[in-house]
Amino acid sequence: MIENYEKYLEFISEKINGFFERQKPYIKCRKGCAKCCKNAEFPYSFIEFKYLLSGFLTLDKEIQDIIEAQILAVVEAKKKFQGEKFLYDCPFLINDVCSVYPYRGIVCRTFGLIIQKKENETANKVPFCIHEGLNYSMVLDEEKNIISEKKYKELGISEAPLGFNISHKFLTDIAFEKKYNFEFGEKKTLIDWFENKEKK
Ligand code: SF4
Ligand code: SF4
Repeated sequence: MIENYEKYLEFISEKINGFFERQKPYIKCRKGCAKCCKNAEFPYSFIEFKYLLSGFLTLDKEIQDIIEAQILAVVEAKKKFQGEKFLYDCPFLINDVCSVYPYRGIVCRTFGLIIQKKENETANKVPFCIHEGLNYSMVLDEEKNIISEKKYKELGISEAPLGFNISHKFLTDIAFEKKYNFEFGEKKTLIDWFENKEKK
């Protein structure tokens, strides 16, 4: 099953990398820029979680210990949390670098691109780091929080800033399960997988 999931990953990664390539003039992603790995929820299906753990098992013991301590700290913080939406820094991030990069989840592969709007929405979803002077910030309409066509035209970039169909919901659709013969399984936030593991 993991081999089939890897084939699917290869397929979507190639597509997503192609989107990044097309949007190159707007992209500021680089190793060590890890704002997208912080202060978020990180949706993960069961197979993504399993794959992430298989990456964890390839790491040196001392790195594993750091990650385990970080997981525990986030689980504890979540227990004490009283609000509606618990946001946290990914425990697999060490010194602003992903420790399990080849094994990262699907959502991690899409960080930084514009997500195409759903039918009932009025605008595409810009990446949060647009407000940090990063991806697409040069074409941001700050007042409306949308891409400014005027700014894009003024810059004279040939490729327009585009939204892509890359929501976690779409990328974990049953159609991919059928095509590649595997199952995503249940979906939760990354930390919930550990929280529930602890309870067992
Ligand atoms: S798994 Fe890696 S890429 Fe994904 S949020 Fe965690 S540190 Fe970032
Ligand atoms: S998506 Fe944004 S925050 Fe993440 S690496 Fe790219 S530029 Fe940095």
